[in-house]
Amino acid sequence: MENENPLEKTLRDVELFLKQQAELFGDETFLPDKTAAAQAVVTATSEERSDDIRPEHHEDNGAELKQKPKTIKVSEEQGLFDGVVTSAEWKIDSQWHESESLEILDSRISGCMRCQLGSTRKNFVFGVGNTKAKLVVIGEAPGADEDEQGEPFVGRAGQLLNKILAAVQLRREDVYICNILKCRPPNNRDPFPPEVESCEPYLKKQIEIINPKLILCLGRIAGQTLLKTNATLAELRQSVYEYQGVKVLVTFHPAALLRNPNWKRPAWEDVQKMRKMYDELPD
Ligand code: SF4
Repeated sequence: MENENPLEKTLRDVELFLKQQAELFGDETFLPDKTAAAQAVVTATSEERSDDIRPEHHEDNGAELKQKPKTIKVSEEQGLFDGVVTSAEWKIDSQWHESESLEILDSRISGCMRCQLGSTRKNFVFGVGNTKAKLVVIGEAPGADEDEQGEPFVGRAGQLLNKILAAVQLRREDVYICNILKCRPPNNRDPFPPEVESCEPYLKKQIEIINPKLILCLGRIAGQTLLKTNATLAELRQSVYEYQGVKVLVTFHPAALLRNPNWKRPAWEDVQKMRKMYDELPD
């Protein structure tokens, strides 16, 4: 970086290193008291990034790191449950859980106001792709581009996801792509547990309807949230899990790969492993 003095460069390198470590090994490395929902620790930049592609908000590129992320501690009293509305105001069809197709499910829940994110979203982001896919790709929650367009994994991260799929001879339309949350958390913060609790039944219903054989989970937060674990991404990548009776692999989020090209090689190994499992699936 031009005109950068040695001290600034050292600080930038150290901060980038720490954030990469946090991505691989978890926030607990630096935030030892992150233990309970009532003390949810959320890291967010004070301004939204221009490319604003979902997760991995714990790490940024060097230029952005000059502005140190602020850590917000949210106590239960301070609003963890603020904005959770009553069932009468959910604005969903009460028969949603009996939906026989994704189209019907979408139409029944797209007005959902079950948690506070319903009141801040621009668009409900249901999911897209092959409704009979053998592979479902799941991220954490919509980002700014997704919120704007109502479709998951668009923008730069979405384009990279398309390339990753193409590298193992899969097209975007061959798989089904969705998120755990259907509405964007403000400032791309991590989902709060009550939001996951409110929204996850919709994901389960989607999976029930699609009946996939394999799930590829993108990013540490998505993996931890879906699998209800505090395991690090390095640990999550090592195993095959199960969710709703479907095998689950976890790999890097494309947004993380955009910022950390060194992770493309291990990500490539992950998707090759996924492709091998995919090829061995029954029709
Ligand atoms: S995040 Fe999920 S539960 Fe919350 S309002 Fe959106 S659709 Fe409803």
